[in-house]
Amino acid sequence: MDVIELFHKDGRPAKVWACGACRRVARTEEDAHACCQPVHCKTCGKEVEERHWTVCRPCRAADFEAREQAKWNAAKKVHVADYDGVAVCEELEQFDDAATLFEFWDDDPDHEGLEDPRIYATRPTPLTLDAADVLEDALERQEHYEDAASDLDPKGYPLLQAYLDLWLEAHSSVVSYVPDYSVAIVRDRALVTAPEKEPKEKEDLDAARAPF
Ligand SMILES: [Zn+2]
Ligand SMILES: [Zn+2]
Repeated sequence: MDVIELFHKDGRPAKVWACGACRRVARTEEDAHACCQPVHCKTCGKEVEERHWTVCRPCRAADFEAREQAKWNAAKKVHVADYDGVAVCEELEQFDDAATLFEFWDDDPDHEGLEDPRIYATRPTPLTLDAADVLEDALERQEHYEDAASDLDPKGYPLLQAYLDLWLEAHSSVVSYVPDYSVAIVRDRALVTAPEKEPKEKEDLDAARAPF
């Protein structure tokens, strides 16, 4: 591609170049050359259609799918009947109990080649309040003097914390759920991860004890 070199008014080179096709300015002559040149996908070699990408869209999608599948394969599989927490389905982008997620999945026929949804367990994260944080926030919000926190007697924290914990107990409705990608929920019993075998030594010990 043609490259335009830019000069100052007095004729000094500006050390700036521009692409001759689209006039976009580039920091180096090499970048200006490459500007409107077709980019070939690093993975498959086909021309990349969108700007600023070095890998084409189908290859990016395939790479994403491979990583999702690897994450799924590595997860421990639990049967839907044995999990009663909140679950998350990545494909449906939804949190609910696992059985409901399977129902939603079955109600929607269009899943782009995926037979069963990838449903994962979650960890509940309730709202917490920390006495020191609450005081620090208050001091900052009210713009008290610097180091005001150091004038608070830390012996008072446990009392405030006890009040806060009591309050939280009565206001436990805020709970967020964080996906736990180490546990997957399946509805096919054949996919359930076998329970870990007890160490050999323990088996021997149990066997030795058996006659008594
Ligand atoms: Zn260009
Ligand atoms: Zn590609």
